[in-house]
Amino acid sequence: MARNQKYSAAQWVPATGNLTALRAAASECQGCELYARATQVVFGEGPQDAKVVMVGEQPGDEEDRRGHPFVGPAGRLLSKAMGEAGLDREKIYVTNAVKHFKFLERGKRRIHAKPSGIEISACRPWLEAELTSIEPELVVCLGATAAQSLMGRDFRITAERGKFFPHHWAKELIATVHPSAILRVPERYEEEYARFVQDLRLVANRVQQLKGAAHT
Ligand code: SF4
Repeated sequence: MARNQKYSAAQWVPATGNLTALRAAASECQGCELYARATQVVFGEGPQDAKVVMVGEQPGDEEDRRGHPFVGPAGRLLSKAMGEAGLDREKIYVTNAVKHFKFLERGKRRIHAKPSGIEISACRPWLEAELTSIEPELVVCLGATAAQSLMGRDFRITAERGKFFPHHWAKELIATVHPSAILRVPERYEEEYARFVQDLRLVANRVQQLKGAAHT
C-alpha cells in the first residue's frame, strides 16, 4: 500500500445514496487520526434535493461541540452573505472537506489547525458520497482546502476565484474564500465581505441559468 493510502475513510463509507445512513456511518469513521481528539463527527446538513452544495474546510470549535456544520462565527457570516446574495440557506447543503475538528491546545483554548493533504485525501470518500448522493447543480468551494479536495493541489483560488468549472460530482464548481478568512482581516472586512457576497450572487444567478437550461 502506498504511504499516503494508509489513511482513508473508504472502508467506513456504506454503499448507499441515503444521506441519513451516510451520516450515521460517519460517526464510526477512523479513516485518519482526527477522530481521536474531536468531540464528534460533523457531517453535512441540508436537503437531499439541494441544487447547491457548499464545502468548507473542517468543523470549528463551536461546530465540534454542537455537532453541526457552519454554526460558529464563520457560519453566521456565511448565512448573512447568502441572504444578501439571494440564496436561501435552508435549500443549500453545507458540509466540509474534513469531517473532524483538528486543533492545537493553547491552555483552555482549542486553536484551529489546518488539515494535512493526507487528512483531506483520507476524508474525500465522505465528500464523494455526499455529492454523488445529492447530484447538485453547483458545488461552491469555500477556501483552499475544499478546492484542493475537489480540484487538486494545483488549484489556486487567487487565480480561479469566481470562475465556473465542469466537475464530475456536480454540473459545475466555483471557488471563493472561506468566510473565516474575511473575519481574519478586520481592517479589510467591508471590502472582502462585499466581494464574497458578489461571488455568492454569481452562484445564485448561475443556478437560475442551469435550471432554465434544464427546462428548455
Ligand atoms: S476526518 Fe474524515 S477520514 Fe478522518 S476520521 Fe474523521 S471522518 Fe474519518
